[in-house]
Amino acid sequence: MSSGPQARALECERICGGEDKGLNNMVLMPVRATKRGDQRTPLQRDCDVLICGASFGGLAVARELAGSGADVLVIDRYEIGERQTSACGIPTEWLRALGLQESLQQTFAELVIHTPHAAVRYALPWTFSTFDYRTMCALLADQGSFDFETATVHGRRERTVHTDRGEIRAGAIVDALGWRRVLGAGETIQPPEALLSRGLEVHPFGSGQDMEVWIDRSYVPAGYGWSFPADGELRIGVGSFDPRFHVREPTVRLARDLSADTVRYQGNWIPHALRDATEDGVFFVGDSAGHCLPLTAEGIRTALYFGLACGRELRAVVAGWQGHDRALARYHAFSASHALPFRWMLRAQRLIPRLAPRLLAGSLRAIDRKRFLDWAFGHYLAVAHPGFVGERVPGREIPIVTAS
Ligand SMILES: Cc1cc2nc3c(=O)[nH]c(=O)nc-3n(C[C@H](O)[C@H](O)[C@H](O)COP(=O)(O)OP(=O)(O)OC[C@H]3O[C@@H](n4cnc5c(N)ncnc54)[C@H](O)[C@@H]3O)c2cc1C
Repeated sequence: MSSGPQARALECERICGGEDKGLNNMVLMPVRATKRGDQRTPLQRDCDVLICGASFGGLAVARELAGSGADVLVIDRYEIGERQTSACGIPTEWLRALGLQESLQQTFAELVIHTPHAAVRYALPWTFSTFDYRTMCALLADQGSFDFETATVHGRRERTVHTDRGEIRAGAIVDALGWRRVLGAGETIQPPEALLSRGLEVHPFGSGQDMEVWIDRSYVPAGYGWSFPADGELRIGVGSFDPRFHVREPTVRLARDLSADTVRYQGNWIPHALRDATEDGVFFVGDSAGHCLPLTAEGIRTALYFGLACGRELRAVVAGWQGHDRALARYHAFSASHALPFRWMLRAQRLIPRLAPRLLAGSLRAIDRKRFLDWAFGHYLAVAHPGFVGERVPGREIPIVTAS
């Protein structure tokens, strides 16, 4: 099946009867392939590594375990790539480093920021790209060697995970299930009390040359709006750092201001605080560990980055080079060692909405200097650098995919 936006929209029309069901915390994506009813046969099995969640974080863990000899099972409530979880924007180099260029849709060398008093156009020291979620997930999954089952995870007791299809016992468990942190020791995370942002976007047909951001209180008091073109589709949305602020109306308004249709909604909660990356013997990767960056809400490359790190620790366990507890401790420390940039970005997330709009506009203009932008965006990329993909890993002398 073609994965272009037109083909996907037609499938969406078929499933939804053309109805526009934009709801917060709901993903309305086109193709529904997940088994339902009788097709959901009982699932009862053991495995070496159970990866819960088959999006960016989970598939990155699986990739690092390829060829390790481990019996790896990946589960998700949906088929791989079935439900897009973001606007799918990422530093281009991450796609290249992981060999995922085939999913690339559009590349941007500049970032345009609109405020009520000024618009600035920053030349980036590295490019940013949009990609096709389904294709990207398929390519990433191809780099792993694992069994996959659709199952909804309900909870866990020690090393046994409970799903709607049965119980799975595993030597090691990874929670890459997103912001809810389903497999934590306590209650799952509940909005709006938790440290979460919320985001919603529409995906109309359309084209554009620029990656654009709006910092404008008329849309959202604390947060930003965006428009990411993606090869025939626009991803237009609004994110609020305050989880109590509803983003549906401003999302619709921003889309209308851009003369775009308000169709094909996609939204979710977004963590903006780093959490412990291990708890009660479980590895947490991506949004479940709060790995999404505050301020920008960029969580794809960090999910990939920490997923690779987690997979490498587990690979060393499978190879017999370290025990499970040591892997937990090392991964925990690795994640925690990134606390500083996360803290700074959270501070900026809290500060920027407090700036008077004219001061904000003046500040954005003032930092439009090549040396400063190279420095700032260089540091930003370094938080989860694509060079990590090709780093030498003990036990894997030749990485599966080398940076091109
Ligand atoms: C509107 C919006 C736009 C965004 N745009 C961008 C962007 O352009 N760039 C960027 O870097 N970040 C973006 N983000 C953030 C980004 O989407 C997340 O940080 C990223 O998806 C985290 O990846 P993950 O693998 O940890 O979790 P997810 O991508 O959320 O994947 C979790 C997986 O777990 C599965 N799952 C969840 N619960 C269960 C369960 N109980 N049982 C079984 N399976 C389950 C889901 O089906 C899903 O496949 C955006 C977020 C939002 C809300």
